[in-house]
Amino acid sequence: MAKMKAAVYYGPRDIRTESIDIPEVGPNDILLKINACGICGSDVHSYGTGLYINKGQIMGHEFSAEVAKVGQNVKDIEVGQRGTGFHSGVCGQCYWCKNQQFMLCPNLFKASTGYGLQGAFAEYLLIPNAINGVSFLPVPDELDIFTAATIEPVSVAALTVSQCEPKKGDQVVVMGAGLIGNAVMQVFKAYDVGKVVVTEVSDMRLQSAKDLGADEVIHALKEDVLERVKEIVGVGAYHFNVGAMADIVVDAAGAPSAVEQSFELVRSAGTIAFVGLPEKTAALDTTKIVHKAPRILGCLGGDFAQSIELLKDNKVKTKELISHVYSIDHAKEAFEMQMRPHDSVKVMIEF
Ligand SMILES: [Zn+2]
Ligand SMILES: [Zn+2]
Repeated sequence: MAKMKAAVYYGPRDIRTESIDIPEVGPNDILLKINACGICGSDVHSYGTGLYINKGQIMGHEFSAEVAKVGQNVKDIEVGQRGTGFHSGVCGQCYWCKNQQFMLCPNLFKASTGYGLQGAFAEYLLIPNAINGVSFLPVPDELDIFTAATIEPVSVAALTVSQCEPKKGDQVVVMGAGLIGNAVMQVFKAYDVGKVVVTEVSDMRLQSAKDLGADEVIHALKEDVLERVKEIVGVGAYHFNVGAMADIVVDAAGAPSAVEQSFELVRSAGTIAFVGLPEKTAALDTTKIVHKAPRILGCLGGDFAQSIELLKDNKVKTKELISHVYSIDHAKEAFEMQMRPHDSVKVMIEF
């Protein structure tokens, strides 16, 4: 049987490049030859802690590829076509599936691409029951392999921003400037909001946020975030206290301190959106929720079609955010580098 290289997870901070069988293509499946795959914040989280992952998992869900084989029953997908994809293992039976809220299906992360099923840190990836426009998304020629590998995280940013329902002139604070935070900032700029302020602890990520269009950047360790945000977006008095006047706050940092601060930065009746995944729980002062009555959103999932449009129209730029590229033979070094926010923004594996 033909073999391929893949990065296999063995335990916290233990990932090994091995030679395994290339998956067999059934009549309803397609086989993709991976061009590039980015390391997601959630992959780093699993790699570092062992949370949400089992031994033997091959991660990777942010990728660009070319169709290598097509099962006989598959329509509208051709060998050689460029694209990305995601097989979503939702059950179709549960309360949420019946309500069309597929992202909330408890089976989603048990049998999906890179979660339960093999992911794209491998030379080949099988998409079972491939459907064009659903589990396989064609990529336009304008997008190079690295930009195309950011379609998934940009799709998360696009959906997060549209869930915030920004209005003209809204003042926005984005906490965290990894790829998703940076893309959230760029999508907001595309919506014609007011100022978009980015807070970060990494100089490198702050600089790239500035380079790609953030109106103001704040170093969250070297500056007083609340005071600076008050200066930029105004002072927001609320019952018995004073915070800032941000209409929208997005947490893409995934740090408990950012979660806690979001309730200070948002104005009363503003919006807080959580898209980061902190490894530790934050202390939640629910008095602030009562007194400020913010709209609080949990943002999971993405809008692929909008992401592809944003990238194609250059409204969101991601190539500048790719700080390191490794071969699959150096998967472990790639993961270690992605764990260092001061030295990397987005790390990719190229095949
Ligand atoms: Zn991801
Ligand atoms: Zn379900």
